[in-house]
Amino acid sequence: MHTATTDYRLSGWRGEFVHPSIEQAFRRHSEADAARSLRRALLVWASLLLLFGLMDYSALGSGYDLFLLFGWRLATAAVLLLLYWQLRSKPSLVSDGYAVTAAEVFGSVLFFMLYFLRHDMVSWVIAVVAISLLALFMFIPNRVYLSLLAAAFLSIGMMACVAARGMGADKVIGLGFILALPTAVGFFTALRWQLAQRQQYALLMQVISSNRDLQDEIKRREALEAELKRQATTDPLTGLFNRRQYEMLFQRERERCSRLQQEMSLCVMDLDHFKRINDQYGHDVGDTVLKHVAQHLSCALRHSDVVGRFGGEEFILILPDTGLEQAVAVLNRLREALAETPVPVQGELLPVSATFGVTTVQPDDFDLEVIIRRADQALYEGKGAGRNRVMTA
Ligand code: GH3
Ligand code: MG
Ligand code: MG
Repeated sequence: MHTATTDYRLSGWRGEFVHPSIEQAFRRHSEADAARSLRRALLVWASLLLLFGLMDYSALGSGYDLFLLFGWRLATAAVLLLLYWQLRSKPSLVSDGYAVTAAEVFGSVLFFMLYFLRHDMVSWVIAVVAISLLALFMFIPNRVYLSLLAAAFLSIGMMACVAARGMGADKVIGLGFILALPTAVGFFTALRWQLAQRQQYALLMQVISSNRDLQDEIKRREALEAELKRQATTDPLTGLFNRRQYEMLFQRERERCSRLQQEMSLCVMDLDHFKRINDQYGHDVGDTVLKHVAQHLSCALRHSDVVGRFGGEEFILILPDTGLEQAVAVLNRLREALAETPVPVQGELLPVSATFGVTTVQPDDFDLEVIIRRADQALYEGKGAGRNRVMTA
């Protein structure tokens, strides 16, 4: 879960994150686990309550006291089971801590009743209260300072009971000290545990965050690499392959075609009277036309064909697995389509045409320059013959 702040400072006495949104995020993160342990603890607590009820019977026999005590045990168990039930659908009850604390306070009352009704085990009740104070901190997941409140209620309540029985102040204060001991041990142990949990969470979040930063950085670098590669291999205006790239692709295709004994053709294409467009409409319109033509070439040719920008308004078309006759047919279709698709500029439709010089790549044609010169010668003848045509060499 990503939180806006990364302030993971902890409050030493509360055992919680100083920043509320981080504390909230932590609670949501650990809620399910905490709710599970709390439900387990509530079941054990309720079972012990009822189990010890059997001992009441053997000590008190059936009578009003037993009825009162057992009734209270049942009421407490009912409260605990209600919370157990609520936690199923509302695990947030464990994070807020108030419902748990209320149950703890309610559960304490039984000890006061035991103290007054079970005369046979007065000193035992004190011992059980001391153990329960420890258990309250150790086994019942709650916010540590709320546990402290519940422990204070139980301890002070117990002291009040002892005082109400007419014991001297020394006894009451002595009891206070006895109960303060498990409370202090429980509190500091729970506090350390609560702090350790949060430190672990902060570490986990920091690892996740640096992992995310790393992933972002990797993505950024990959995008940058792709962009650099694109810039290094394409012509910025038209997006077609630049000279270095089409030379490399030409060699690759030439080797592949000769290995598979396939024919291959190469064409140089030059826009007709392009200077006029520039002169009449300006360089920007000229650029728009170049982009339009580049788009047209990319769409019309096969994916395996290589389309590159040779220079100004000249283009190189490498047609692997294509003989001369087939190349002429393809280029004528292309030429017609180009001539039939005027470019919309400044509210006008600007007709464009091109002349093509095409040649086959022979098995002993290793030098691209030589092949281009041959195709260029045919192109030149095409210009002389009236433009907008495909010439072979
Ligand atoms: P032809 O039919 O004989 O090819 O006539 P042309 O006017 O197209 O021929 P020429 O080679 O004389 O002119 C090419 C022009 O292309 C010259 C230059 O102004 C223009 N040109 C070259 N590169 C660019 C470019 O990147 N953008 C624009 N707008 N124009 C360019
Ligand atoms: Mg030219
Ligand atoms: Mg031209």
